[in-house]
Amino acid sequence: MSAVRVEQVGKLQAYADSVAGCTRCRLAQGRTQVVFGSGNPRADLMFVGEAPGFHEDKQGLPFVGQAGKLLERLLAGIGMARADVFICNVLKCRPPGNRDPQPDEIEACESHLFKQIELIEPTVVATLGNFATKLLSGRPLGITRVHGQEQEATIGSRNVLLYPLYHPAAALYTPAMLKVLESDFARLPELLGRALVPVAPTEPELTLVGATQPAEQLGLF
Ligand code: SF4
Repeated sequence: MSAVRVEQVGKLQAYADSVAGCTRCRLAQGRTQVVFGSGNPRADLMFVGEAPGFHEDKQGLPFVGQAGKLLERLLAGIGMARADVFICNVLKCRPPGNRDPQPDEIEACESHLFKQIELIEPTVVATLGNFATKLLSGRPLGITRVHGQEQEATIGSRNVLLYPLYHPAAALYTPAMLKVLESDFARLPELLGRALVPVAPTEPELTLVGATQPAEQLGLF
């Protein structure tokens, strides 16, 4: 691992530590813990869901229930595992009763997600469901309209390919939706192969280090 990578992974861990005490919105009051995200801190592929649920809140990890199992099965279908990707949510704390995130909560929390993307430097960000898709695309179009349609987006200083997908929790009990999710998911390897040109073309060597190293799971997240 190069010095650049070690330094950036350390920055992500430091950021996770700082978010653990976040009290920017009302959700801080009811949470067991902040669910920052988990996986490869230098992943090329990042998934962004909605918010932690009951089990996520208890365990401190995203996507640990049935939806998580489905996500793992879908990943296995394209030859990947959880440790290859980074998984997180728009909100880092559980809304009471698993209600929908509220606009002021998203506004309070969004900079945590933007910072994660900046530090992890993925090439593809797959948004799971409406909330992540609308937030990161900056457009009001719902997931039913835009799923499976990749689009280039600039998030912070990072150019990424945004790829909206149905949320696994929604697809769990709706066979037709699951079929669509599976077929959208199957395009991920193609999208990952089509890695985007990073924002800062003046430092090609620095960029190539991150882009060509194999995925490493450091067990930090
Ligand atoms: S949901 Fe986000 S903004 Fe609100 S307390 Fe948790 S980490 Fe902070």
